[in-house]
Amino acid sequence: MANWIEFAAIKRRVPLAAVLEHYRINELRRSGRDQLRGRCPLHGGEGRETFHVNTAEQVFHCFACGAGGSVLDLVAKIEGCGLREAAQKLSDWRSVTDNVAQLQKTTVTKKINPVPPLRFRLRGVNVRHPYLASRGIREATAREFGIGFYAGPGLMSQRLVIPLNDEAGRLVGYCGRSLDGSEPRYRFPAGLAKSQVLFNLHRAIATRRPTAIVVEGFFDCLKVYQAGFVSAVALMGSALYEPQRRLLMQHFRQVVLMLDGDAPGRRAAAVVSQRLSADCSVRVVQLAENIQPDQLSEPVLQELLAREGGQPEIH
Ligand SMILES: [Zn+2]
Repeated sequence: MANWIEFAAIKRRVPLAAVLEHYRINELRRSGRDQLRGRCPLHGGEGRETFHVNTAEQVFHCFACGAGGSVLDLVAKIEGCGLREAAQKLSDWRSVTDNVAQLQKTTVTKKINPVPPLRFRLRGVNVRHPYLASRGIREATAREFGIGFYAGPGLMSQRLVIPLNDEAGRLVGYCGRSLDGSEPRYRFPAGLAKSQVLFNLHRAIATRRPTAIVVEGFFDCLKVYQAGFVSAVALMGSALYEPQRRLLMQHFRQVVLMLDGDAPGRRAAAVVSQRLSADCSVRVVQLAENIQPDQLSEPVLQELLAREGGQPEIH
């Protein structure tokens, strides 16, 4: 019951408009006295008018993806977290200051709760599994990233395991990709908040380059890395979650976005570049229809990225 009261109090205290401002969701337009409308910031924006906010009732609804609810639901969706955590975040903001403008500055630079390091490592990961070569991943790359087939027991058994690290390079978990068509294709451990991790971020930071190359998938990232662009990071999907945005902005001044050349990828690129452009310079690489970065050869990747100001590093 305490939770419910706390939730109700937060909903009363924090206006939806403050949340929209906090996340720089600023392309909504007023329609009527208490209504805002625009592209949905959650599902990537199919339809220009699907996302409705009622500022009198303090609720939102998207007619395309069906998301809706209160400020808490909105924060939970954006952050990729539960309602409890969303409530915690909102009450943290409010305790900092009641001034929305100042609040924005203080929370943007706030440190993200770290993901706890993993206390074990999988043994006997086979970095020479033929699947890797079939996807164009060199053995040296697989070895460097610790990616390989795991035949041992547990959640990741019989999967290609991909180590995930925090920004300091500590192992925080594994993602397991199925190779035999079993679902889910990518398995993440239940306790791991994917929204707080960017694949390869620690190596990208170590390059001390101003520019991060942001792609969707692990293999996109590995291929871009192999092409010499070592400051590549993967979202592990097409959404940029708020903690991921903060991590990027803490370490890079420029972003080259190279998402998939399909409809969801293009929509996501528009949403992500808009959200990032408040804090850094963003360039978008438009790939041809139905092309993903991992399907491109190294010379093609090099040419595309060099055009956007990326510099390969000889390694
Ligand atoms: Zn939506």
